[in-house]
Amino acid sequence: MPRPEILVVAKLPPFLMQPLIENFVVHDRIHESDPAAFAKAAPRIRGIAGSGESKVDAALIDRLPALEIISVMGVGYDGVDVAAAKARNVVVTHTPNVLNDDVADLALALMLCVARGIPQSDRYVRDGRWPSGPMPLARKMSGSRLGLVGIGRIGQAIAQRALAFGMSIAYTARSAKPDLPYRYLPTARELAAESDFLVVITPGGATTRKLIDAEVLRALGPQGFLINVARGSVVDEQALIEALAAGTIAGAGLDVFENEPNVPDALRALTNVVLTSHIGSATGQTRRAMADLAFANLAAHFARKPLPSPVPECR
Ligand code: NAP
Repeated sequence: MPRPEILVVAKLPPFLMQPLIENFVVHDRIHESDPAAFAKAAPRIRGIAGSGESKVDAALIDRLPALEIISVMGVGYDGVDVAAAKARNVVVTHTPNVLNDDVADLALALMLCVARGIPQSDRYVRDGRWPSGPMPLARKMSGSRLGLVGIGRIGQAIAQRALAFGMSIAYTARSAKPDLPYRYLPTARELAAESDFLVVITPGGATTRKLIDAEVLRALGPQGFLINVARGSVVDEQALIEALAAGTIAGAGLDVFENEPNVPDALRALTNVVLTSHIGSATGQTRRAMADLAFANLAAHFARKPLPSPVPECR
C-alpha cells in the first residue's frame, strides 16, 4: 500500500513532523512555497496537518479533490472552514483536554502579573530603581471576583484554580450549566459589572467576534482587569487600547491578539498591560501531548479506526 500523501500547512514541531514523515508522504507547506509542485501533488493529497492558528479555507479545500481529513494540533480550529470541509465529507479533528492545565495556569499567571505588577517589579529591580524607594502598592487577587466568559474545558480548569485563591466565580456562556456550582449571568456585560477579573476563554470565529466591546469594558470598570487567553478576535482591540489608555479599566493580561504576531504599538506602549506571545499551551510536555493526539487522529483515520478527537461538528 502506498503511504497516504498529506499537506502540512503550519510550522509544526519536530516531534510531530518526525512521525508524519515516517508514516506519510509529506508535502511541507508547498502550497505557499512552490505553487507548481503543489498543483502537481494536489490531486493526491488526502490529509492536512495544521496548528491552531492555521488557515484552511474553502479555496484550499476545493483544490484538494482527494482530501479526507484535516488534523489540527490545537483545540481552537476557527481558522478551518468546517462547513466547507463537511460539505465535502472531510472530517476535522483537534486536540482538546491535553492543554487545559497549561492554558489555565497561564490565565492565573496573567491575573497575578497584572494585579501584582510582577513584570513591572522585575524591571524596577533590573533598572536599579529600587534604592530610590518602593513601588506603588498593587492589587490583591485572593478573595476577589472572577468572571469567566466561557466555561468549557479550560474555563472549568481556571475556575478550579481560582477556588484555591478564595475567589468567587461567575460565568457567561451560550447556555447556563446547572451542573456547575458557579453563578450564571446571561451576558458578558452583566458578568463584567460583577467581576474584578474578566477572563475570556471562548472559541474564536464569527460567533464570538468582538464579544468584548467598549460597553463590556465600561461595565468592567476602573478597578477591573481583562484577561484574554482565547483568541484576539473575541476582544475589540481598539476599544481595549482606548479603555486602557483612559483608565476605563485597570489593566489587561493578553496572550492573544487580533493580528498575531503583530501587536499594535499603542498596546505595547501601555504600562498597565502584560503581554505574552500566544504561549497558552507552549510547554514541552503539553505540545508533545498535542502532537501525539494530532498524529493519532491521522493514523486512526487512515487505518479506518475510530477517531480519537473529531471536532463537535464532525462527531
Ligand atoms: P470548549 O470546551 O469548547 O469551551 C468553550 C466555552 O465557550 C463554552 O463554555 C461555550 O459555551 C463558550 N462559548 C462559545 N461561544 C460563546 C459565545 N458566543 N458567547 C459566550 N460563550 C461562548 O473550549 P476549550 O477547550 O475550553 O477552549 C476554548 C478556547 O480557548 C479554544 O477554542 C481556543 O480558541 C482557546 N485556546 C487558547 C489557547 C492559547 O494558547 N491562548 C490555547 C488553547 C485554547 P456553551 O457551552 O454554552 O456553548
